[in-house]
Amino acid sequence: MSNDTVPKTHLFDTLKVRAGYDPKEHHYAVSPPIYQTTAYEFRDVENAKGLFSFQEAGYLYTRIGNPTVTVLEERVRILDRAAAAIGVGSGMAAISYTLLNLAEGGGRILTSPFLYGGSADSFKKIYPKLGVYFDQAKNIEHPERLAEEITPDTKAIYIESISNPSAVLLDVDAIAKVAHEHGIPLVVDNTVATPYLYNPIAHGADIVVYSATKGLSGHGNLIAGLILESGHFDFSSEKFSQFSEKYYTLRDQSGTPRSYLEVFPASPFTSRIRLNYLNYFGAALSPFDAYLAIIGLETLSERLGKQSHTAHTLAEYLSSHEAVEWVRYPALKSSPYHALYERDFARGAGGILAFGFKGTQAQREAFFDAVKLFNYHVNIGDARSLIVNSPQTTHGELEPHEKVPADVPENLIRISAGLEDPADLIADLEQAFQKALSI
Ligand code: PLP
Repeated sequence: MSNDTVPKTHLFDTLKVRAGYDPKEHHYAVSPPIYQTTAYEFRDVENAKGLFSFQEAGYLYTRIGNPTVTVLEERVRILDRAAAAIGVGSGMAAISYTLLNLAEGGGRILTSPFLYGGSADSFKKIYPKLGVYFDQAKNIEHPERLAEEITPDTKAIYIESISNPSAVLLDVDAIAKVAHEHGIPLVVDNTVATPYLYNPIAHGADIVVYSATKGLSGHGNLIAGLILESGHFDFSSEKFSQFSEKYYTLRDQSGTPRSYLEVFPASPFTSRIRLNYLNYFGAALSPFDAYLAIIGLETLSERLGKQSHTAHTLAEYLSSHEAVEWVRYPALKSSPYHALYERDFARGAGGILAFGFKGTQAQREAFFDAVKLFNYHVNIGDARSLIVNSPQTTHGELEPHEKVPADVPENLIRISAGLEDPADLIADLEQAFQKALSI
């Protein structure tokens, strides 16, 4: 809906502050305005007819579209080189709308075992009641054997590009190839990596989801989600008949029902989410939160670059600490994911790292009580450094036997590196270790 006046040839850092916004369309305001309105007046009856029959682009009601939200959608779409994008009220809304749009009415999703705890728990508890079942892949790290786990009912493969909390990397190109050989799309949650560190579409992903709450906006002051479609996946097969089904709501001006593929050939996936799920399930992104995300995005490279560097420094410090059993960070040479990191992550491995605390449970708890500079809480991707005992909090829903394949051992401590001086962060960890080990 917004004209893109910034040439596509511009590089990432130019696009992240300028793409998807043309001041000429907004009273020459240099910073994108917050359109704090519920509805938009029809110009005349013809305009109303045009909007309702999708002959004319424009805004109707902020639940399904808002000019400030459009700037965010367009900016991330251009950064990720996607065909279309939609902003929603949270990362969980992005995930649930995506998976329901693919498998509503019944189907299976093949998932990575290395997932955010909220995703894993909702896959287990909520979706089966809606007819959508999840198979946790045993071979996600062996894509040559992954085909064995795809059933006739499998509607998609779902993975995280950098997993939360153990920073597992996967061979996304190889997984995408298997998905495509079986006529199903690959969905990638790119929350931890952000568009700066990784472009899932360039590696074969068909749909990308974000919690924009995290590093993408980067200041821990909003809740938002995004869904992007690559434009490369063919949704015309019988497996995805919902995209070919004719709906009266998509009728042309003569009243003939049409399908999403007919009306929105370049964006059938996100258009269907907008008009069905966003419209009727209603997890809309507020214009104010979209504005905050746009401002946060302006410093994405600077933040993620520094956070990757700091996380690497912390990982090295922890690796040689007597109280640390192991460290998970792909940029470490000792990491089993180092080869994938070298191949795919030229800009860094991101701000998330995890380590195993060697002491007793009481000492681990004393460690959390002793940290002063780190904030002890469950978010990630903030400008401030955060620390949390994931197995007991963000991944507390996982039963003990589920924590093994998910690589979330009981003694795991997750760090989300912020923008402070790494020396102050190390000093804080050191004094907390000393206090904890003295009890
Ligand atoms: N995806 C990942 C990888 C996450 O870490 C999270 C939240 O921690 C989510 C999705 C959910 O995002 P939100 O909190 O915006 O709903």
